[in-house]
Amino acid sequence: MTATTPSPIHATPPAARRAALHRTLLAWYGHQRRDLPWRRTRDPYAILVAEVMLQQTQVDRVLPRYHEFLARFPTLAALAAASPADVIRCWSGLGYNVRAVRLHQVARRIVTEYGGQFPRSLPALLALPGLGPYTARAVACFAFEDHVPVVDTNVRRVLGRVLRDTVGQAAGERFFLALAEAVLPPGHAYEWNQALMDLGATICTARKPLCLLCPLSQHCDALRSGAPIEQPGGNGRSSGNGQPFVGSTRYYRGRILAALRAVGSDQALDLPTLGRALKADFGPADLSWLRGLLYGLERDGLVVLTGKGGGDGEGVRLPH
Ligand code: SF4
Repeated sequence: MTATTPSPIHATPPAARRAALHRTLLAWYGHQRRDLPWRRTRDPYAILVAEVMLQQTQVDRVLPRYHEFLARFPTLAALAAASPADVIRCWSGLGYNVRAVRLHQVARRIVTEYGGQFPRSLPALLALPGLGPYTARAVACFAFEDHVPVVDTNVRRVLGRVLRDTVGQAAGERFFLALAEAVLPPGHAYEWNQALMDLGATICTARKPLCLLCPLSQHCDALRSGAPIEQPGGNGRSSGNGQPFVGSTRYYRGRILAALRAVGSDQALDLPTLGRALKADFGPADLSWLRGLLYGLERDGLVVLTGKGGGDGEGVRLPH
């Protein structure tokens, strides 16, 4: 069992209230939990893949890609041995492709520095570059069943509403982490964290909380004091739709990677050809705009620029 040491909170809900919350929410989770494939395993690699995918992408879009990714890279060693280009290709359709690069780098680091075995303690997981504090806690809790809080957007919103009188004006990440740890039920951190996520995803949603159907309606500060107010977003898993906005930088980054996925592994696209794949009216005046996008993708490890310095040889490809 591993514990974190987040900042102290101003008030911890009394033991009797915590017990009532635990009893009610865990009973609801026992009957209503979503049957998700990453809940049928304690394999830290599979859970890592799921958690990285679930950041910024909704569950229904993740489900098929999760199975495809694990079929293509069934183990941490298989992922570490793959080329960046193969991993980026397999990430197609999920968006936020930089996650694929970071996941791949984490896999390689675990193989080279830990002999392919996940670090078993939360501090060691938190120290892994590229993993991030949310994902480190998710792996600690969902793979190793450690007694640690896992605070994503849904958990933060549910706790912020149910315990509004405790939360008050506080909104910082450290506060919510401390609060989430203070209300963890001993011996049931896994189910509790998953239950909070399910409640936030299905009933206590951001825009239209279904308070009449909520198992915590008898215990909720926000409902008792009037209509719940939407909480600001936080880290971790997505509650948004993850769709790219047409014309945005993110949109064009996705289009560039889609064009590169469509060509052979070693093949580079020259910039005018790539530009015309993005915009039918692409012309020389758009080259600096395109280079700006490519420099950003190169910084994120998603592409390699070839023939830098201009001329006919200037091109781009996926990293080998
Ligand atoms: S009663 Fe309403 S606001 Fe409170 S936790 Fe349930 S759904 Fe959310």
